[in-house]
Amino acid sequence: MATSLVFLALFALWRSRRYAWWVPSVSDSHPRILMYHMICVPLRSHKYRGLRVAPAMFERQLAWMSAEGWNFVTMSQLREQYESLPPKTVAITFDDGFLDNYTEALPLLKRYQAKATLYLLIDRHDNEWQTRRKAHHNSGEILREQKLSDDHVREMLDSGVFELGGHTIRHINLAAEDLATKTHEVVEGRHQLQEQFGVPVDSFAYPFGIYGDDDVQLVRQAGFTSAVTVEEGIDTDPDFMRLKRIKVSGKDRFLSFKTRMRIGKRGY
Ligand SMILES: [Zn+2]
Repeated sequence: MATSLVFLALFALWRSRRYAWWVPSVSDSHPRILMYHMICVPLRSHKYRGLRVAPAMFERQLAWMSAEGWNFVTMSQLREQYESLPPKTVAITFDDGFLDNYTEALPLLKRYQAKATLYLLIDRHDNEWQTRRKAHHNSGEILREQKLSDDHVREMLDSGVFELGGHTIRHINLAAEDLATKTHEVVEGRHQLQEQFGVPVDSFAYPFGIYGDDDVQLVRQAGFTSAVTVEEGIDTDPDFMRLKRIKVSGKDRFLSFKTRMRIGKRGY
């Protein structure tokens, strides 16, 4: 009897590790930046399940943030108003430009009066960019996924919900390209977005989260005033050209989302 109680207690403790209850919370005076890609139901057949957050889960996350009094901002608001942001500020970001950002995310963001930043890839159609990170990532899954049209993007920007950010022209791997190519992708990429959509583009997301010190310089010189990485966490003393984000994974349960909001990452 005693043995099984001890076993049960140990099992409960082991199960609770994902909530990282022993890790102290990061004060909510430090804004959170959430990273999303797709809002769609992750299936077993999907290789990139982590990139897919189910619409019902996304709504649950928005409803919770809204009920808990989180203040939604875009990345330019986060950058410009950093010193005067209220506690519990959160910037939602979407990378790449998948169609479900329009069909699924936009209506939900509207419903909860939330804001978001879209790091839009310019050549997003007919582009299996995962192979630029690793050649064997050629499953075609990203290629087959439907992307936003320019008209969708315009409507998202006109709604006042979304702000536009840069993510290069072809989703290059900055570590693998020469300076001329990188300069074109970052500088010309920003110009093209601004020309095409007639809006300022002040924030950048490093493709794959891969960058070197020279790339940070390049992004700054291109005129971007903030840049986000895929390093997980919550900045307490931010370098605005290397901002951490909280990864929202389609593999997580809701309680894990709350843990990530609290400490910036998954529990274990
Ligand atoms: Zn990307």
